[in-house]
Amino acid sequence: MTRFAIGVDLGGTNLKLGAIEEDGTLLEKIEISAETQGGPSVVVKKICRNISELNERWGQRYKLSGIGAGIAGIMKLDEGKVITAPNLPGWEGYPVRSKIEEGIGTSFKLENDGNVAALGEKWMGAGRNSQHLAFMTLGTGIGGGLILDGKIWHGISGMAAELGHITVYPDGNLCNCGNYGCLEAYASATAIVRGAKSLIKTEQASLNLKELFVSSQEIDAKNIYRLAKSGDSSSIELFSRMGTALGIAIAGLIHIFDIDTFVLGGGAIASWDVFKKSMFLEVGNRSFVQRADPRNIYKSELGSDAGIYGAACLSFQ
Ligand SMILES: [Zn+2]
Repeated sequence: MTRFAIGVDLGGTNLKLGAIEEDGTLLEKIEISAETQGGPSVVVKKICRNISELNERWGQRYKLSGIGAGIAGIMKLDEGKVITAPNLPGWEGYPVRSKIEEGIGTSFKLENDGNVAALGEKWMGAGRNSQHLAFMTLGTGIGGGLILDGKIWHGISGMAAELGHITVYPDGNLCNCGNYGCLEAYASATAIVRGAKSLIKTEQASLNLKELFVSSQEIDAKNIYRLAKSGDSSSIELFSRMGTALGIAIAGLIHIFDIDTFVLGGGAIASWDVFKKSMFLEVGNRSFVQRADPRNIYKSELGSDAGIYGAACLSFQ
């Protein structure tokens, strides 16, 4: 009987589940609102109900290999607990693994969301030909995951691969984590908007960028990307800065880990064509290893499904 696994991806906004065959075929995907305002027990009930439904539908024809989840927070994996989760209110200290195991009546694999997305890209995405890769998700913040020798690298406490908090500019912008000059403060979607906001207060800002702030209700990285595509110099400059920051971080990672593949995902990857030039340039300028033996830097292939693939993959490993 062919095996399948159920992968769960819980973020601050969306809850996704996938039933995925051992060869990577996606049998079914569920995407619903996470409704995190109700607290962890409401979310966990929803997770358990959907796992059971997927198992009922697919467990007749396939053998369930296991169930895994990536959760948007820092976890104490050996205890199955959440330590801190800024996007999941009320989850601090919550014993999520045991609560889900109670709900579904079987064992369950828990991971951080960046780690499972990295594993997903390694299994079925842009990193499938590599045993050593770093994954970054460029969204509201920057999440990360590191795969070494084909496996998730957890570090000593499970907090490895917080790649968004690598310092790229020692005296740079303040980051949400309290540090100055983190990658996240330059290369996330939030950073693009923040950069535009501070730029329009100066003489250097283009007229188009200033007009965008007058005419639009809500400014997001997408508006600014559209301006960049139309040739607006200020917007292009913001994405170029993003690419440079990514290049600095990637060059550092090449020198530490000697990995061959980088995969970039998340919403802000939509602006890949505007930031990639400065990113590749910076990696080359800063890394003699890159110049001698160029490494692959790819766009995510699985997009927002990377998490469910990786979470399912935990059961096949
Ligand atoms: Zn930071």
